[in-house]
Parts: sequence; C-alpha cells; structure tokens
Amino acid sequence: MNYFNIASIPGDGIGPEVMNEGYKVLKAMENLHGGLSFKIEEFDWNCTRYIKTGTMMPDNGLDILKDYDSILFGAVGAPEVPDHISVWQLILPIRRAFQQYVNLRPIKLLKGIESPLRNKTEKDIDFIVIRENTEGEYSNSGGKLHENTPHETVIQNSVFTRFGTERIVKYAFQYAKQKGKSKLSVATKSNAMNYSMPFWDDIVREISRDYPNIPFHLYHIDALAAFFVLKPEEFEVVVGSNLFGDILTDLGAAVAGGIGIAPSGNINPEGDYPSMFEPIHGSAPDITGKGIANPIAQIWSVGLMLEHLGYSDLASVIMAAIEKAIEKGEALTPDLGGNGTTDAFGDAIVSEILKGVEV
Ligand code: NAD
Ligand code: MN
Repeated sequence: MNYFNIASIPGDGIGPEVMNEGYKVLKAMENLHGGLSFKIEEFDWNCTRYIKTGTMMPDNGLDILKDYDSILFGAVGAPEVPDHISVWQLILPIRRAFQQYVNLRPIKLLKGIESPLRNKTEKDIDFIVIRENTEGEYSNSGGKLHENTPHETVIQNSVFTRFGTERIVKYAFQYAKQKGKSKLSVATKSNAMNYSMPFWDDIVREISRDYPNIPFHLYHIDALAAFFVLKPEEFEVVVGSNLFGDILTDLGAAVAGGIGIAPSGNINPEGDYPSMFEPIHGSAPDITGKGIANPIAQIWSVGLMLEHLGYSDLASVIMAAIEKAIEKGEALTPDLGGNGTTDAFGDAIVSEILKGVEV
C-alpha cells in the first residue's frame, strides 16, 4: 500500500466548496487503485482566521506543512481583508519556503468546452506555461522617495539571479525533452528591459546548448500575448518570468474556456519540500454559498498532484472523466452554460471515474 499524507488548505469563499469535490475524487482514486491511500489533514488557514487571530497561519505553519507529501490549496481572499495580506502571508511564504520555483499551468481546451477564440478547437489549444515562481518582478524589493512632494518616486525592483533563472530555464528545456515536445517558446522583453531580460535571454542560449534537439524561440511578451490569441496552435511549452508567466497564464485560462477550469501546480522539482496544487481562480465572493462554483479547476489540480506523485495514469483517468462529464452535459455549472451544482458536477465526474469499478 502506498500512503500519501496530504495537507489541505481549502481557504475562503468557494475554496472549501470546490475542495470537497477534490476530496471525492481522491476517494475515487483509492477505489480505483487498490494500493493507494490518501490521508488528508485540513488546515483552516484563511481570512476568517486572520480576522480572529491577526494571522493567516500559525507561526510554525511552514514547519507543520514541510513533512507532507503534497499540499492541496483551494483559494483565499475575502472582501474584509486586503488582498496583499492573504497573498503575502500565506501563498507566497509557502511557495518561497518550499522552493516551489516552477509554476506549471496547462493551457488545454477540454473537449466540449467552447473557446472564446473563433474556430479554435481542442487540437489548437494544448500547451503548458512554465512560470518562474519565486523571484523576478515579484521580489518584494523597492522603495519610496520624496514622499508628499511633487517629485514623489516609487521604485519596484525586479531581481533575477543566475541560480533562479538557470533552474527554471533548465526545467523548461528538460520538460520539453521528457514530454517529446518539438520546441520551447520563451517570453522576453530584452528590447526595453535592458538588464533583466538580456540576462534571461543569455541564460536561455547557454542552457539550450545542452538541448540541441529542442529549438527555442524568443518572443517579446507583447507579441507573445497576441500570438496566444491569434495562433495558439504554435505553442507546446512556454517559459516566462514571474510577471510575464502570471499574465500569460490568465490569458491562457481565458482562451481555454475560463477561470473555473484552469489548474496549477507549484512544484519543487527536487522533492526536498512538498509541492502545492491549486486552481488559478480566487475565492469568488460573488458566487460563494450558492453551490454553483465549477469544481473542474480543483479536480484537475488533484490530477496534477497525482501526476507529480508518480501516477500519470490516474491523472489521465481524471482528465478523461472530466471530459466525459462535460460531454454528457447533465450537471454543467452555470459558468459553462448549465444549471448544475458544484456537488452534482463533482458527482458526475466521480461517476465517470468509477465506471466499471466495483465500489
Ligand atoms: P476570482 O477568481 O475569485 O473571481 C473572478 C470571477 O470568476 C468571478 O466572477 C467569479 O465568480 C468567477 N469564478 C472564479 N472561480 C470560479 C469557479 N470555480 N466557478 C465559476 N466561476 C468562477 O477573482 P477575483 O474576484 O479577482 O478575486 C476574489 C478574491 O480571490 C480576492 O480576494 C483575490 O485576492 C482572491 N484571489 C485568490 C487567489 C488564490 O487564492 N490563489 C487567486 C486569485 C484571486
Ligand atoms: Mn494571476
């Protein structure tokens, strides 16, 4: 029997609602694969806790998490708590402390989902964005000068280290090689950002020498964004800095049918620390409590987790079940044009997973 200890942080708003569906899928995986067992430990680290205690997580929160095999995350954020608190006191410390320097975001149009891009089908939109997740433009470095004068000046620094840049670029080339992809697309802006991006590009050129069979193409970020819309079929693997990757993946989620679907993995490739898997959407206060949140992003995130834990076959089962449930269309949530509930849609996916399996 293979046991996995999973830390779960459902968070706020629809986070706990979609997390429940993730649990159902993990249970289904145990039924499907006799030799697997998931022990889930839930943590109430969220904005409600912040309002009560003044902190998003306990002082030893990172210490508590570090021995788990993986972390499942829902979403955080509440109207009463400034967003920078929920992000900087919970999500970013986890990503940084656990060296989750790879943010993996599949951009894949599922069968049965309509892209807002005219005439694009699931054959056209199927790639992955690898975003640097620990430094770059989100480095918490900067300052203010001449406050309260007409010369008030703010400085926001981007910090690119050789270590940090090399490891993400290497990961991207390696990923392309392992998955049998034919090329790597790289986001840059070295015409206008004259320190960081030429450095980034040079490192791409250096690392590329070890991957002679994976040609790379540098795209300025503005043009790259346009190409995501105009010819998404060009892309297989895309690598970008923290800010560029962030923007590209929201755009990618949109072209792949919406935010309720898109999953992500925050990966520590060395396995020294747990990796964390989460939908890219937030806590969606506008639909919280209505029971209509789309659970696909959370369930797909469970799939990414299983892949990371070495069960790609089970991840494929999940993806096939999601597509089947969409195709049947009986329980689609309102964001996909149906009038189903989170719970019923989750059940529909689970029932596809369990087809033919005795429970
Ligand atoms: P959001 O992703 O919560 O919502 C944007 C829109 O998408 C809303 O109309 C919402 O109803 C819809 N939506 C989101 N997920 C959905 C789902 N699963 N099914 C159906 N519809 C869905 O983004 P926002 O409104 O900008 O932010 C709300 C809060 O979430 C803020 O506090 C923000 O800081 C936080 N947030 C957290 C994370 C995270 O936890 N990683 C990410 C983004 C935003
Ligand atoms: Mn984003």
